[in-house]
Amino acid sequence: MDASLLKEHWPSNLSPRKGQLEAAKVIAKTLENEEDLVFTAPTGFGKTLTVLVAIKSIEFFPAIWLVRSLKLAKRIASDASLLNIKFFSAAGRKKTCKLVSKLGDAVYLWCKLNKVKCDFYLNLLRKPVKIRSATSWEDLMTRQDICPYYAQDIIISNVELIIQNYHRKIYPAKVIVADEAHNLLIPKEYRVSRNIFITAAAELSAIGETELANEVERIAQLPELLPSLRNYLEDLEVATYDALEHLIQVKGLVVLINILKILSSGGTFHRELGCDYITIYAPPWKPKIKPRIFVSATIPEEMEKILNIETSVRIPIKKRLALVTTWLTTKFEEETITGYKNLIIYLRKKFKKVLLFTTERIASQISPLATHYEPEKLPDNWHGVLLLHTRGRYSEGIDLPSDVVAVLGCPFLPPEVTRNLKRSYEKMGLSGNIAIWVPMVITTLQVIGRSTRSPDAKPLIILADERFLRYEKYFSPYLELRPFNSFHQLSRFT
Ligand code: SF4
Repeated sequence: MDASLLKEHWPSNLSPRKGQLEAAKVIAKTLENEEDLVFTAPTGFGKTLTVLVAIKSIEFFPAIWLVRSLKLAKRIASDASLLNIKFFSAAGRKKTCKLVSKLGDAVYLWCKLNKVKCDFYLNLLRKPVKIRSATSWEDLMTRQDICPYYAQDIIISNVELIIQNYHRKIYPAKVIVADEAHNLLIPKEYRVSRNIFITAAAELSAIGETELANEVERIAQLPELLPSLRNYLEDLEVATYDALEHLIQVKGLVVLINILKILSSGGTFHRELGCDYITIYAPPWKPKIKPRIFVSATIPEEMEKILNIETSVRIPIKKRLALVTTWLTTKFEEETITGYKNLIIYLRKKFKKVLLFTTERIASQISPLATHYEPEKLPDNWHGVLLLHTRGRYSEGIDLPSDVVAVLGCPFLPPEVTRNLKRSYEKMGLSGNIAIWVPMVITTLQVIGRSTRSPDAKPLIILADERFLRYEKYFSPYLELRPFNSFHQLSRFT
């Protein structure tokens, strides 16, 4: 198809940007060949509209659009409306179940067990319901009589585009579009308090499962033994169903089952010394349906090999300069904490808005120098030093304009987590080595992106760890790394 023919499918009230029609043409051709594709372009290029026009031009429906968070679904829905594509934004049980306020985390297991007794579900079977005009799960929430979760299935069978988050059940489709696809290749992290094991043990005791309760209680004292509980997964699942039948509330067991399932599917966990919580890492994955379109503003070129991609459409972006300090590191037992403190003092003097990202381990040692440290709510018009966690609540999906953005330390995952994740990557047919660099590179690009999303933003970018230089090629085409070895050299850029 000629690129100019695609213009017929473009919204009549919008003019395509330079490169959009050409990109749509390649995407449409790749889909017709049933091949996978990476599409990367800077923020603001109009990636969503470009992909939707490509899909629409060859009527490649139904399509599924996977988003990291349903908050992003509105953006996809609004572009789909421009093209008169029939779409629906679908949500999981936690957002849609009528009983969720009572069931909490237990909603999934409870529903599996009790759907046949649930009047909201049975009402869907009893009488035809007029819900076809709904375009989002939210439209169904006003209905008092039916189960919105299962009502979605009725609507979805009649739409062209289903928008949903990565982890919801995936419907059969002709193509899967993974938005912000870099997220698929890094482990998803969950934090779990040790108290959850005590709660689970109490729930087991309450239904008379004393032996299992003792096993789980042992984990509360020694979380390092958590993998041994995988041997009891089936028994614990049966006990959880029992608890859901007989107890007023079930919290701990439901979380425990989720953790054990993640560990059994190749995930892993880590406990920082002295911390009262453990971090669970769900393994990376990619959708099984082919063809797949991986859309992102930050997929390094080296990652295409990992994804085994046949075609890529890369809209050129302007490389940004990133200065790499050669005298600082957060390498375990070689941490240059005083050096980091001096860097912060220097930056604080020179700049009004200093945005810093580091791990919790390092942050705990330098936080007294910050004006704001990982606040619950970001202050309006902040200035001074804003210190945030590299894998924290502000590391993705938010704009944080600043004069300087610095990553203090290479954000590698803990060594034992990397070791365990190697096996997951190998299961995906990938080299285990990527467990070392992929999470580090993606996290670094993500946190820098908080300050550089606008093409006009020109913050000074500092990568404060000499180890970044060893991974230089993986930052292509986004960053040009330049080493510098003293404040004197830095002063030329400030
Ligand atoms: S059938 Fe629907 S309303 Fe009933 S428990 Fe399941 S998700 Fe909730």
